Amino acid sequence: MIAKPNSPRSRAADSSTAAYTVGVPYERMFAYAAGPRTQPSNYARTVADKSAIEWTEASWNPATGCSKVSPGCAHCYAETFAERFRGVPGHPYEQGFDLKLWHDRLDVPLRWKRPRVIFVNSMSDLFHESIPDGFIQAVFDVMGQAHWHTFQILTKRHDRLAVLAPDLEWHPNVWMGVTIENRRFVHRADRLREVPAAVRFISAEPLLGPLEGLDLDGVQWLIAGGESGYKNRPVREQWITDLRDRCVEEKVAFFFKQWGGVRAKTGGRLLEDRTWDEMPTPRVLATA
Ligand code: SF4
Repeated sequence: MIAKPNSPRSRAADSSTAAYTVGVPYERMFAYAAGPRTQPSNYARTVADKSAIEWTEASWNPATGCSKVSPGCAHCYAETFAERFRGVPGHPYEQGFDLKLWHDRLDVPLRWKRPRVIFVNSMSDLFHESIPDGFIQAVFDVMGQAHWHTFQILTKRHDRLAVLAPDLEWHPNVWMGVTIENRRFVHRADRLREVPAAVRFISAEPLLGPLEGLDLDGVQWLIAGGESGYKNRPVREQWITDLRDRCVEEKVAFFFKQWGGVRAKTGGRLLEDRTWDEMPTPRVLATA
């Protein structure tokens, strides 16, 4: 196990990148969502490169917009945020949650000189069926060039991921994950196992049921958490402790993100009186 990276909150904004609109931290997203449907005058600066997601530091969105594929998508935070701005002229989400490729954002990580842990496409799914193979390849090329960063990709499109994986270059700084929200989708881990990523991880968030039948073989990291928002579907403690116990037993790093509730922090992050912030040790990849 390696130590958790410095908390995103402890990092100062990098003024050299502040002008790039590459991601929207959770808390700021909902601060905007609650306000008027107009673009804040300082928008370009305030949605810079930091993230409030506990297990990452920054987000990079070369594509935005998506469509729902499974129950975990029901209350998609990205859709909620993006649709607030549909029709607002000049706003990055003027097109709402419709899929959009941002070619001019492809080189953003290359301009970030300080190493970061970067969540790729927090506002989309990189393996969405409407994102061309060539664009995904371009994202992977940038991740390879920006070797000083660590990139985390999370998808619910496990089949497309597995189909494209042999044609992508799996750089040692790219971590690949799938979301598994209930037992119906534990097979996503099987497709993930086909991917030669340095870190394979599972995001069990929002966790909607016990993950019976989940095979953790070949998985280095598991993140678990409950759902947040006004329509949150409560998580049961036993679903979380079962996953935690399996991770401990099988030496998979375990990260407990939150219990969830109306707000992400409503229920806190303590699981049996402690936090679980384990991070994975990347596998050493074979070189050609
Ligand atoms: S896959 Fe992710 S981004 Fe796409 S709709 Fe579902 S939750 Fe939202």
